[in-house]
Amino acid sequence: MAAKIIDGKAIADKIIEGLKEKIDGLDKKPGLAVVLVGDNPASSVYVNIKSIACEKAGIRDMKQHLPENTSEEEVLGLIEELNNDSDVDGILVQLPLPKHIDEHKIIEAINPLKDVDGFHFTSIGNLFINREKFVPCTPKGIIRLLEEEGIEIEGKHAVVVGRSNIVGKPVAMLLMNRNATVTVCHSKTKDLGEETRKADILIAAVGKPKLITADMVKQGAVVVDVGINKVDDRLIGDVDFDDVKEKAGYITPVPKGVGPMTVAMLLENTFEAYNK
Ligand code: NDP
Repeated sequence: MAAKIIDGKAIADKIIEGLKEKIDGLDKKPGLAVVLVGDNPASSVYVNIKSIACEKAGIRDMKQHLPENTSEEEVLGLIEELNNDSDVDGILVQLPLPKHIDEHKIIEAINPLKDVDGFHFTSIGNLFINREKFVPCTPKGIIRLLEEEGIEIEGKHAVVVGRSNIVGKPVAMLLMNRNATVTVCHSKTKDLGEETRKADILIAAVGKPKLITADMVKQGAVVVDVGINKVDDRLIGDVDFDDVKEKAGYITPVPKGVGPMTVAMLLENTFEAYNK
């Protein structure tokens, strides 16, 4: 039997609608400052998507666009201003930053109470010791998709392919915090298929089109595809969707799977920052 396709777009829309209802009743609306430095085309697209989503939820879009040649000191100065501005509830610095700016230095300058992207050491530390506060948006969105579908995590064997700081590592930690047994694979993993075939829950966060094929998936497994790869002007995931969907129990599509959840979780984190 073919897998149930998890409609991330519908779940994300429902979350945004729920936030809008709560925000509509507030006198002062939450504010999100997305900081974009330079004109990286992909970053500009992501920032626009975030602006549109803010509008849908009724969150004030306090976007800050700085030129490519802005110095590190100037960006730090802006972060300090935003930290001290009581109209700003959440701060997100769109990555990557231009090469002359130290990303870590900028992220660490954000007030952890406004760290809606969850990349500050304080947020990561809290996640690590299972006191989750601001959780990075894509990993948080993955867990929410599983919860919304009623998929149990406790006691399951979860295999995460990819160990980046923004997806692989935090999602592995979230799964561990929810009592899954977690295996993390990466480019040096000897036999990837041998590991992925053990997965009850398989998360692919690699950036390699169709890396995960049907022979690498256990019958009935839950397959979450985080990858976004542009091939011949189409977006495709890290999972060979057409073949894997015949074997998996659940599968997320690309697009309209994890992507919309990332944005919904950013808005949710902003609302949480406002309430704090
Ligand atoms: P990174 O490039 O930072 O990390 C990729 C990871 O995949 C690394 O850990 C790397 O291993 C591992 N890897 C590379 N090749 C292989 C291989 N052949 N077998 C096993 N593991 C491999 O990527 P990100 O985590 O930032 O993003 C991953 C994908 O998710 C991308 O397509 C990105 O566009 C997408 N993405 C989607 C989001 C969404 O909202 N849907 C949000 C963020 C990302 P090693 O550590 O050894 O190098």
